[in-house]
Amino acid sequence: MKDCIFCKIAEKKAPASIIYEDDLSIAFKDINPQAPTHILIIPKKHLRTVVEATEEDKELLGHLIYVANTIANDLNVSNKGFRLVINCGSQSGQMVWHVHIHLLGGRHMTWPPG
Ligand code: AMP
Ligand code: ZN
Repeated sequence: MKDCIFCKIAEKKAPASIIYEDDLSIAFKDINPQAPTHILIIPKKHLRTVVEATEEDKELLGHLIYVANTIANDLNVSNKGFRLVINCGSQSGQMVWHVHIHLLGGRHMTWPPG
């Protein structure tokens, strides 16, 4: 999708610190980390928000969570725990309109989130 920063990262047309890639997804470091480990996992397919997902995206969404889990293991944040966050829509604070999972770890998390 033209003018989508995450599509550009997926196409290697914008810089990012990429830590994982497969046919369906790519993961890179968040540019403004909110925890010692802060990774974004995105589908290569442009989906504006989870609200836009259809039945055909079910496997893709599951795949993204599986990838997040694998990365959490690789980065050694699984033992102590980590958080996966998907902001969905403007009131959630979604700023980038291409689906992404935040993987946050390496510090104690509080609840409820802000
Ligand atoms: P959200 O508020 O859920 O849409 O989160 C968007 C996230 O993308 C924020 O945590 C930003 O710091 C991050 N972000 C925005 N642009 C970039 C970029 N070019 N490279 C890496 N992370 C980015
Ligand atoms: Zn996009």
